[in-house]
Amino acid sequence: MSEKLSFVNPTANSPWGTYLSQVDRVVPYLGPLARWVETLKRPKRALIVDVPIEMDDGTIAHFEGYRVQHNMSRGPGKGGVRFHPDVTLEEVMALSAWMTIKTAAVNLPYGGAKGGIRVDPKKLSLQELEKVTRRYTSEIGIIIGPHTDIPAPDVNTNAQIMAWMMDTYSMNVGGTATGVVTGKPLHLGGSLGRVKATGRGVFVTGREAARRLGLDLRGARIAVQGFGNVGSVAAELFAEAGAKIVAVQDHTGTIVNTNGLDLAKLVPISRTDGVVGFKAGGDIVPNEDFWDVACDILIPAALEGQLTAERAKKTTAKLVLEGANGPTVPEADDILAERGVLVVPDVICNAGGVTVSYFEWVQDFSSFFWDEDEINVRLDRIMMNALNQIWDTADKHKISLRTATYAVACERILMARQERGLYP
Ligand code: GLU
Repeated sequence: MSEKLSFVNPTANSPWGTYLSQVDRVVPYLGPLARWVETLKRPKRALIVDVPIEMDDGTIAHFEGYRVQHNMSRGPGKGGVRFHPDVTLEEVMALSAWMTIKTAAVNLPYGGAKGGIRVDPKKLSLQELEKVTRRYTSEIGIIIGPHTDIPAPDVNTNAQIMAWMMDTYSMNVGGTATGVVTGKPLHLGGSLGRVKATGRGVFVTGREAARRLGLDLRGARIAVQGFGNVGSVAAELFAEAGAKIVAVQDHTGTIVNTNGLDLAKLVPISRTDGVVGFKAGGDIVPNEDFWDVACDILIPAALEGQLTAERAKKTTAKLVLEGANGPTVPEADDILAERGVLVVPDVICNAGGVTVSYFEWVQDFSSFFWDEDEINVRLDRIMMNALNQIWDTADKHKISLRTATYAVACERILMARQERGLYP
């Protein structure tokens, strides 16, 4: 954030700056709705909270937490909560804005929101993690709710954390409100298919993009950055389709095997020791070398800003699937376009998670739960319909899939804005 704290002054190369430049690129395609575009360039509301807890050793620690509601023109706010030592307000603003675009791109009846706490959860005991989660939930309780803003998992948060959030909110309102968060455990109003949904969406959109490019998945070489819930599931699905996972990077390092990594062994080891724990199955290389590994498909599924201009110049990938939110900086986007590399942007590529979150929320309200086949069939249909519409828009205007996704999404958001009108 610049010296003067403001929604409209992004720090150079920040996620919020990336988002603002993505919005600028879509303005020529918005027609008369462009009049409303400023509404997308500032969040509706941002809450900063202090999260004090008593640590196991008796000391008092304070963490800073955020919940940003970027836009609610089309429905309640929706978006995950991230626990990470680098979380900032500006980052959460960008992540909330990408949720607005994402929910509109797949036509879910939601706006966009996001939350985060600047904390390294790996340094907390389970009790400390629960305290941080509960106090944070209580503090943001004044703006979240099943009909106003519905959090979900994101980086370093999971079903257990969602259960604590649901319980804390429920205790405060005096009833069991399962619909206040999604990504919950199955027996607490969670949905089948939610855990794998984001990775599955990356696979479904990636398979279609590969088909359109004439890229055979059998034998295709794939490099995956980030091996959590998104990257590992997508890797498994691509491997099942015959692709070779040649490089994987996570917070512990980078492992490469040009014959393809054995995922049946790598995945369980990575959960406890990180990918470098699988030394026996590949070569451990310096992290920067990940971007040099010869591949056909690159899946950045970690954090923002990873695909820089320099890395975009050297990748051999023909297809980039954005499993993460905001992994590609605008300059890199341009370089990839010039080099003929197709990018399936985050706001459609990783929308599978929030789509099954929507199914979970609907199931909670109707107290009627669907089987996994029904979830996956509906997920695939929503993702494919959205992608096809975006592709048609890209072809029509000769623009990138990212700008086309923004065109489709922003039209829906700004039309809702216009029809609702400004209050007062
Ligand atoms: N955190 C995920 C995302 O970035 C899921 C959000 C949700 O399910 O609400 O899309």
